[in-house]
Amino acid sequence: MLTESGLTLIAGTMFSGKSTELLRRIKRLEASDYNIQLFKSKIDDRYESNHIVSHDGFKEEATYVMSVDEMIANLKEDTNVIGIDEVQFLESEVVQFCDQQAKDKIVLAAGLIKNFQDNYFQFKDEKLDMSELLRIADHLVYLNAVCTYKENGHRCRKEANRVQRFVDGEIAPFDDGSVKVGGKEAYQPRCRSHFVQYQDVLNRLESRL
Ligand SMILES: [Zn+2]
Repeated sequence: MLTESGLTLIAGTMFSGKSTELLRRIKRLEASDYNIQLFKSKIDDRYESNHIVSHDGFKEEATYVMSVDEMIANLKEDTNVIGIDEVQFLESEVVQFCDQQAKDKIVLAAGLIKNFQDNYFQFKDEKLDMSELLRIADHLVYLNAVCTYKENGHRCRKEANRVQRFVDGEIAPFDDGSVKVGGKEAYQPRCRSHFVQYQDVLNRLESRL
């Protein structure tokens, strides 16, 4: 039994350095005698890679998986540290997987906590969302990006825990789940003051009070 077993959730917005933090923690554990396995979810099959590289130049070998079943199939018997990057792209079963594995292993899961609507990110089967990993996590690392809003030539630079989605330079409509053909989408970190909140989200909150 590992004294440090448990689930650490590295949650945050885009551009907040989640992968870097995951790899930093993996590197630290590597120095001890842990048997580490690193997984990264992939959205489709076209992309072939066996490494996670962070913006800061950290590089680690990783198994790319499309499902929780694939992760389980690849899990080695003597593994005692599991790292998962982009955990939000897996299915809802990943919650149960993390909960089970964290009983006797160190599990580090990094992922996007919210989507561009500022709602909890849903797993790909849309049954559960990232709040379920928050609920079961033993440790939480919550990372913010820096607001890139610009006014009169000055950048805001406040802590940003939201991301605004733009399509062709305009704020994306609330229910615009897909990218338009030929459309150019972009995401920018925003602080509380500069994030343009969707009326749908405000209405939903209002209706629950
Ligand atoms: Zn700002």
